[in-house]
Amino acid sequence: MTTFLGLGAMGTALAATLLDAGLPVVGWNRDPRRAQPLAGRGAVVADTVDKAVVGDGPVIVCLFDHRSVHDVLDPVAAALSGRTVINLTTTTPAESRELAAWAAGHRIAYLDGAILAVPDMIGGPGSMIFYSGTEAAFAEHRELLDRWGESTFFGADAGLSSVYDTAMLTGMYTMVAGFLHGAAMLAAEGVPAAEFARWQAPFLTAMTGGFARYAATIDAGDYAGGGQSLRFTEVALDTLLRATTGQGVSTELLQPVHDLVRRQIAAGHGDLDTARMFEELRTTR
Ligand code: NDP
Repeated sequence: MTTFLGLGAMGTALAATLLDAGLPVVGWNRDPRRAQPLAGRGAVVADTVDKAVVGDGPVIVCLFDHRSVHDVLDPVAAALSGRTVINLTTTTPAESRELAAWAAGHRIAYLDGAILAVPDMIGGPGSMIFYSGTEAAFAEHRELLDRWGESTFFGADAGLSSVYDTAMLTGMYTMVAGFLHGAAMLAAEGVPAAEFARWQAPFLTAMTGGFARYAATIDAGDYAGGGQSLRFTEVALDTLLRATTGQGVSTELLQPVHDLVRRQIAAGHGDLDTARMFEELRTTR
């Protein structure tokens, strides 16, 4: 029997995948009304966390945030001793590591997971989940985990899945913000966002082909190669900023990128590859 603590949109999708495969599920949700759809599909719905953590199966946690995970798990820590907790709640790397230490203190096997999919994608193509923490728990439950999507284990440091997850999402959110900026530029001409998306999506897809070259440059730490220079990029960004202003659109998203490039040039790196921006971004720790 697999236990689910948290039957919001994502917890429900995860539990439903197991029910569809004929596997037994017991679930708990703070607001019991949200558990009703799963009850109708054959899940046992517990009215307390205590009653949900019965048996010896894995305990899947999919709650709002780090605090809510403690709110729910702390009172049942003794009952979880000797069990496996798989936490799929989005947390920072530091929070994941804190939860792993908490689990170790209660003799709980802990696997931290990061879901790179929306609920509708769970169990279907394109769904990926990153894991880190107790490797034996990943191996033992691999078959179950693979039902939700492609499962990848990154290592014994429980924070690693979150490091990958938050890095991936940072790339996604800044890209989405860039798309919205471009849509605003075209909206100033009365062009609908759908028309812009038709052109922007394939262009960005093609541009991701360049990531491997950027990565090779960064990993080699040698920015003197023949890629697009910071000086070239500065001129391009200056043009984009002037076009943005001309369209009456806010520059607050693009201006910091231009500032960063200009600081690199002022420091004497103008002839180096634009990938050198990486060196400035990595310096805050
Ligand atoms: P929902 O808002 O649908 O569900 C949140 C869940 O957390 C509910 O079960 C809610 O209970 C519960 N909860 C919140 N606070 C508490 C608390 N203090 N004590 C007990 N339960 C609490 O969110 P999702 O299901 O979409 O997301 C769950 C996790 O999955 C998040 O960490 C999210 O980042 C992650 N995730 C979600 C994705 C998505 O596309 N939805 C994608 C990738 C990851 P109640 O119903 O009673 O409020």
